Amino acid sequence: MITTYIGIGSNLSDPVKQVKQAIAAIKSIDKCQLIVCSSLYCSQPMGPQDQPDYINAVVALQTQLSPLALLDTLQLLEKLAGRVRKGERWGARILDLDILLYGNEVIKSERLIVPHYGMKEREFVLLPLAEIAPDLTLPSGEKVQWLANNLADKYLKKLPTTVDASG
Ligand code: ATP
Ligand code: MG
Ligand code: MG
Repeated sequence: MITTYIGIGSNLSDPVKQVKQAIAAIKSIDKCQLIVCSSLYCSQPMGPQDQPDYINAVVALQTQLSPLALLDTLQLLEKLAGRVRKGERWGARILDLDILLYGNEVIKSERLIVPHYGMKEREFVLLPLAEIAPDLTLPSGEKVQWLANNLADKYLKKLPTTVDASG
């Protein structure tokens, strides 16, 4: 079993509901066990600003799936949630599921880059990740908590909602 961390984001069609449904869907993936999920956070959009704020969370998952099989499954869940891929980069979306970390592995293939290329600069990734895994170290040796403490931006808001990882 490998521990993997998944970043979840949504800014369309009731994003809080989308993120909670995504966590429930991730829980039911074959050969995977959800370990813990972060609080929900509200973030301002990257890229185009004429779109709603995002709801984000990060979950820790134990998995027997290969990295590409996990990516296939997450992309299927995005599709089932109704995500339609348009040309625009970082445009509004119903659901985004990104593999942040897969054990201590470094992967650079056409379809998959792990650790996720943007995770060290994104507060909507680092703060939820530091909440659930403060002692985690990236393959590069950098500590998640240190990266989170040294973020330039401080726009993220933690929501009072709780999400149950059990069940
Ligand atoms: P960003 O990658 O900057 O967060 P995004 O999540 O909106 O942007 P997507 O449209 O969801 O980007 O994904 C584009 C492609 O990124 C996917 O088709 C997938 O093959 C590739 N990809 C590379 N690395 C990863 C990863 N670690 N997790 C998820 N997708 C990845
Ligand atoms: Mg993304
Ligand atoms: Mg993505």
